[in-house]
Amino acid sequence: MASEDPLLSGAATCIRDASWIIGWDETAHSHIYLRDGDVAWAGDRLIQVGGRFEGAVETEIDGADRLVMPGLINIHCHPSQTPIFRGFVEEFGNPRLFYSGRQAFRQGFLPDVAAQRASARYGLAEMLAAGTTSIVDLSHTYDGWLDLLAESGLRVWAAPMFRSARWWTDTGQEIHYDWAPDLGEDAFKEAVSLMDEADRHPCGRLASMVSPAQVDTCTADLLVAGARLARETDRPLHVHAAQSYAEFNGMARRNDMTSIAWLHSLGFLGERTVLGHAVFTDAHPWMQWPNHRDVELLAETGTAVAHCPTVFARDGTVLHHLSAYLDAGVRIAIGTDTHPQNLFEEIRMAETLARVAAGTRHTIDTARLFHAATIEAARILGRTDIGRLSAGAKADLVVCDLSEPSARPVRDPLRSLIYGAAERAVRDVWVDGQCVVADHRVLTIDWPAAAEALEQEQARIAGTAPDLELIAPRALPIKR
Ligand SMILES: [Zn+2]
Repeated sequence: MASEDPLLSGAATCIRDASWIIGWDETAHSHIYLRDGDVAWAGDRLIQVGGRFEGAVETEIDGADRLVMPGLINIHCHPSQTPIFRGFVEEFGNPRLFYSGRQAFRQGFLPDVAAQRASARYGLAEMLAAGTTSIVDLSHTYDGWLDLLAESGLRVWAAPMFRSARWWTDTGQEIHYDWAPDLGEDAFKEAVSLMDEADRHPCGRLASMVSPAQVDTCTADLLVAGARLARETDRPLHVHAAQSYAEFNGMARRNDMTSIAWLHSLGFLGERTVLGHAVFTDAHPWMQWPNHRDVELLAETGTAVAHCPTVFARDGTVLHHLSAYLDAGVRIAIGTDTHPQNLFEEIRMAETLARVAAGTRHTIDTARLFHAATIEAARILGRTDIGRLSAGAKADLVVCDLSEPSARPVRDPLRSLIYGAAERAVRDVWVDGQCVVADHRVLTIDWPAAAEALEQEQARIAGTAPDLELIAPRALPIKR
């Protein structure tokens, strides 16, 4: 009879003599480099990280020229929406659209369920190929969502967004809200049932996050109901807040306080709460707010921030500034929000912009941001078994090929990845001990076919909205 002990049954997979490993030092609470060691796992759990694995091995993988690292965690992304916007939203050529150009675009470009599915399928594959193993998927519920997440092989927190108002603009200068509290209540009920379904999903890799959509589109009652549900069910809690100049001013007019202070007054902030994106706080120099309490409030309450610098940088804005948040004790995790959904590039952007915003190179370092994209994200999700490579943790790991020219010289492999090679070096990915990317090819989703389908869906939706050519002109005119 076969033994259930993987060391005896020979069920282990072992990467032998990996040139570099990003291991975990529990005492120092820090990632560390290990050299020339083994990484072994059985089933969904790691059984050894570093040193020589002496147990029985069923599958041995040569670790020469390889870096083995924990899978990255994307704390904030919208795969059902953002890939399908590619080519439209990176810049807005129409100066009339002021701060609501993106909203004007999205009123014209409305993905239906088929388009959302095509976008998500592409986006999930894109993230796997770039070394991401866990994500928070903030989407408006669509048919087939959970099955697609399960099929992807990723570890996913499904975050069905609900809200009490739709917002829109007619001039591009001003934002209007259509309030319909029933809309929020109905969407809340639908979200509760989807979250329950995610938590029970037989694949075992799905969980959920309570997600009122935006601070300015939810009634106080809806936000309070969301926070209560999160507390009662021990789920993480998310809302988009302090994410635009328009939102900051509108909320200050509405409540005579900042978005963050208002959330605090509702009891929304706390250890399991994450705000996307807390850029426009009272400390942001554009706001000219007379006192600065927001960052302190985030730190005091243990509230985390989903920091997604690329989408803001494209609009000419930046969080002021990342190391001030970190030094104040604010917990930071990294998300992509927009496309490309590539956390290596997002970390690079976060690191570079933090220095620009602070006006000094002595302000942030790669280790802090890698920690944010792994350990801190896992903590927000209530997990100590992902985002790190240590015995007993989940076998969610990424193998990078350090012989890839864009990754060399390999004096410091993490810097080689973040400042250079990014996803080009990602060769193999495992989630829950299952291989989901092998030799740069995503196994769970046919990515080239998903790209083809995405292109067709984008053309179909864009074909119904001729004004898009004015809202989002191409980079170069097409000569007829
Ligand atoms: Zn977002």
